[in-house]
Amino acid sequence: MYPFSYTKAATTREALAAGGDGGRYIAGGTTLVDLMRETVERPEVLIDISGLPLREITATRRGGLRIGALVRMSEAAAHRSVRVLYPVVSEALELSASAQLRNMATIGGNIMQRTRCTYFRDVTAACNKREPGSGCAALHGVNRAHAILGTSDTCVATHPSDVAVAFMALEATVHLLGPGGERIVPFADFLLKPGSTPNREQALRRGELITAVEIPPLPRPLRSGYLKVRDRQSYEFALTSAAVALHVSGGVIREAKVAAGGVGTVPWKLHAVERQLIGKRPSEALWTKAAEQAAEGARPLQHNGFKVELLKRTVERQLRVVGGGK
Ligand code: SF4
Repeated sequence: MYPFSYTKAATTREALAAGGDGGRYIAGGTTLVDLMRETVERPEVLIDISGLPLREITATRRGGLRIGALVRMSEAAAHRSVRVLYPVVSEALELSASAQLRNMATIGGNIMQRTRCTYFRDVTAACNKREPGSGCAALHGVNRAHAILGTSDTCVATHPSDVAVAFMALEATVHLLGPGGERIVPFADFLLKPGSTPNREQALRRGELITAVEIPPLPRPLRSGYLKVRDRQSYEFALTSAAVALHVSGGVIREAKVAAGGVGTVPWKLHAVERQLIGKRPSEALWTKAAEQAAEGARPLQHNGFKVELLKRTVERQLRVVGGGK
């Protein structure tokens, strides 16, 4: 460890004042403390925001749901409105991390968590995300768990969050508060693909704080769910995952929201799959045909070619689970 200072913000105004000076916000601390121990991250000032009033889950006037940034993962997973309205969110949360971590980690921290690429956490390895311009040890190293979508020549790391995949599928928005006021950013624009600046992972401005994630209203009835495929059944990150939400009315799919995890440098919205589904009648043949589009644009690496087929099968299976078959 190394020296740093710590301050606890009593109000949002206090937090923003300290954050604007280059401090790092901390709440559950389940990611940041690990990274500090490993000296991957070396913030000089930690601003504890765990006491701020951002712990509510509320229905929005438009019929969606707003989840405060400091709601614990386990609280969100168990919340009645989340379970009833968006099972895909509660399932993604329950399949994340461990019970202990879910009891500490917050929704805001979850979407801010950094990649589990082992080279990123090994300070002796070349890593453009940790040290821009140093190279990428994963490109020609052990890259079985790495991304096949959204990669660049500078970084091929996956985004590790499960609930972010559900948020991406549902087209959630991220609510931010900063020295310049409030902003609402579509989830699809909040997490950044690596491009030539893999060290920049979120579309945050200096000093900005996540206050909430808002899920928009969707037509009812809506069936949804999350499937996670991994090397072991608990406490493991996804090799592939699929978040699916379908609105079927009059025997026809009117709305389809689909995203994949474990395969992209950010949670990956499957627009081509959605297009295949909308306006069609649920059937076994449709699930298979739509899932064929899941890996469109994939660029596998030396050790993760298996993810192309695994992704298609993951999406197909979850379409069948959520949509049923005839
Ligand atoms: Fe670093 Fe990204 Fe390469 Fe991993 S994949 S070593 S995080 S640059």
